[in-house]
Amino acid sequence: NQYKTDTYWLTEDIVKKLLPKRSQDSHKGSYGTGIIVGGSKGMSGAVILAAHAALRAGIGLLYTLVDRELVNTIETSSYESITLEMEEDLEKFKPILVNYLAKAQSLLIGPGFSTNNREELFIYILNNFPGKIIIDGDGLNLLAKIQDYSLIRENHILTPHPKEMSRIIGLTVEEILKDSINIVREYSKKYRCTIVLKGSTTCIGTKNGEVFLNTTGNNGLATGGSGDVLGGIILGLLAQGLSVEEGAQLGVYLHGLAADIIAEEKGYFSLLPRDLPEALALAFKKLY
Ligand code: AMP
Ligand code: MG
Repeated sequence: NQYKTDTYWLTEDIVKKLLPKRSQDSHKGSYGTGIIVGGSKGMSGAVILAAHAALRAGIGLLYTLVDRELVNTIETSSYESITLEMEEDLEKFKPILVNYLAKAQSLLIGPGFSTNNREELFIYILNNFPGKIIIDGDGLNLLAKIQDYSLIRENHILTPHPKEMSRIIGLTVEEILKDSINIVREYSKKYRCTIVLKGSTTCIGTKNGEVFLNTTGNNGLATGGSGDVLGGIILGLLAQGLSVEEGAQLGVYLHGLAADIIAEEKGYFSLLPRDLPEALALAFKKLY
């Protein structure tokens, strides 16, 4: 084995055991609530993709929190989620925001969020949401901008692609790719969180120093928006009670499997991230 101990291939056997339970005797409260904080002018699609993904991952109830100018777009594109409006004046918004945050077990922050004037809100949410958080996209860029890694807790998942990872840890993309397993292990232990380093072989590190290498997915995913779908899938799984380690593993596997199921019929060229949430149904079914 070329890898050190505590490195595992993420196989079907492993992820099957992580599937959330569903029972006939249930209601939407049984499957958890999540919030997506993201979007900015020109980037509403990231929130829509993540929302559809969370909903197709089986979440009970989903909120999105977006700028006023995006509210209409989100409302007309995502029927099943509830749209909340961000207030510009953070001091005035805090008491309202606290009520929003209290509703959810899981939160995804960052898809299409922009990094302009978002620092205060970002820090406030990280410090005041006690549940499980996925930090993606511009959430990771904000983390790199603020450089305060004490904001990260053990129920957080960071989902960087190599460039975002590079901004956070200060190594070059080349350095990261050359030694990704050890680097993911080192930083997930150092920050005591879960890190999902995305790529053709996505590499997941846990706070305890385990590393999981994904075995699903294909080059059809190499297009803008794929990562937003992944964030939404994991959000949905966390809301249903999976731990951050479990949600990261099952989410990454299902995301790739959905892409593989589409590719089997349609090939690699034309895959769109928007196709992935629907294909999730078949990915779940294949594991059940
Ligand atoms: P992002 O860069 O944030 O949009 O995330 C891209 C997503 O697509 C991640 O989940 C990657 O693992 C996945 N992805 C991108 N390129 C490939 C590839 N060539 N093979 C498999 N998965 C990929
Ligand atoms: Mg991304």
